[in-house]
Amino acid sequence: MAERSDSEEAPLHPESLMMSYGYEPQWSEGAISPPIFQTSTFVFPSAAAGKRCFEVAYGLSEAQPGERSHLIYSRINNPNLEIAEERLALWDGAETGAVFVSGMAAITTTFWAHLRPGDVLAASSPVYGGTQHFIATVLPEFGIKTVRFGPFDSADEIGDAIEASGGPLGMVYAETPANPTNDLIDLAMCAEIAARFSTPDRKVPLAVDNTFLGPVFQRPIDHGADLVIYSATKYLGGHGDIIAGAVQGSREALRPIRAMRTFTGSMMSPFTAWLLLRSLPTLKLRMEHQADSARKVADYLRHHPKVDSVHYLGHIDADDPRHELYKRQCLGAGGMISFEIAGGEPECYRFLDGLRLFKLAVSLGSVESLAEHPCSMTHCEAGPEENARNGITQSLIRLSIGVEHPDDLIRDLTNALDQV
Ligand SMILES: *Cc1c(COP(=O)(O)O)cnc(C)c1O
Repeated sequence: MAERSDSEEAPLHPESLMMSYGYEPQWSEGAISPPIFQTSTFVFPSAAAGKRCFEVAYGLSEAQPGERSHLIYSRINNPNLEIAEERLALWDGAETGAVFVSGMAAITTTFWAHLRPGDVLAASSPVYGGTQHFIATVLPEFGIKTVRFGPFDSADEIGDAIEASGGPLGMVYAETPANPTNDLIDLAMCAEIAARFSTPDRKVPLAVDNTFLGPVFQRPIDHGADLVIYSATKYLGGHGDIIAGAVQGSREALRPIRAMRTFTGSMMSPFTAWLLLRSLPTLKLRMEHQADSARKVADYLRHHPKVDSVHYLGHIDADDPRHELYKRQCLGAGGMISFEIAGGEPECYRFLDGLRLFKLAVSLGSVESLAEHPCSMTHCEAGPEENARNGITQSLIRLSIGVEHPDDLIRDLTNALDQV
């Protein structure tokens, strides 16, 4: 595989490597951009080489340093997937990664790989709606209980709840900033809890859903995470045209996840991996532009008479108790804003139906700006009471800022707020 840098002392920045890393033009007639390896299977050069491939792929033997294993079959490995995995790992400073057919496939394959009946999962709250459903409804059917913790619970309180739950802790799972409130979970604290419940036979991994800020504005591995999970449908893909997921982390923590991906068949398709590769050279450009525009939009909303409150990471002031955590953990405020309109659902709906440039759609992190009503859309399953406890009120709107001109976005918001 391609060298990351000319010298160990000065590694290149990830954005300098997104066009070339992990791919050699000579593999494909000199093509500067990797073609789509749209193939189901790969021809072995010899029977002995085929045997060796299976030994390594099935974990019967470790690959030797410098040994380049041949490809076998596109459910197990494929060049487009491998190039995407190597490039994504650069952003997070991860040893390795695996890409999936969706963000939910990345999350659920991680759970199946690391949790067993009788285990306890410690998971932050709130989390993405699909993750919430899986934790609350599916895992209990397989004998896996969950201890939930919120942004304001201490390590001692969470540790006591895990001890009281009775089972061995199998994983700590955190989503931060939380969707859609932008509440922060302290990852260093989560890593401490995972370490406290680890035993010499079983290391409890900390898994972090980094979809909202990562990888440009948050690097969980620097704060003790073992696994970093993405819905690559969002910022990584970034163009509103793919459903995709990824997990990055240490070789040790990824080994059972890769094996589970092989046998559940939850890997990404070569074409989706190729589209993801096409998105990565502009990842930082897009996210930085979106974050700059989000600041302008959030500042505008803060002073609008029909807006009661704005939840935006860039508005956490120095005298706020969350400021220290924000500065320690985040590298920027990102492109997600939520805000409360004075009123409730009818006022929110008049606003949403009045938007023209913002599209009324769920999802986030795309080039087009999106708006939605979490309480009745993405987060409806929890019901209004639990939603209210998590700060997801009837008057809350979630915005994902795209790459349009911020003045045009603000004009669209002004017109829509006039309808309220
Ligand atoms: C969208 C999303 C997911 C699920 O990803 P899919 O690609 O839709 O399967 C998980 N976590 C977060 C934070 C998300 O925004």
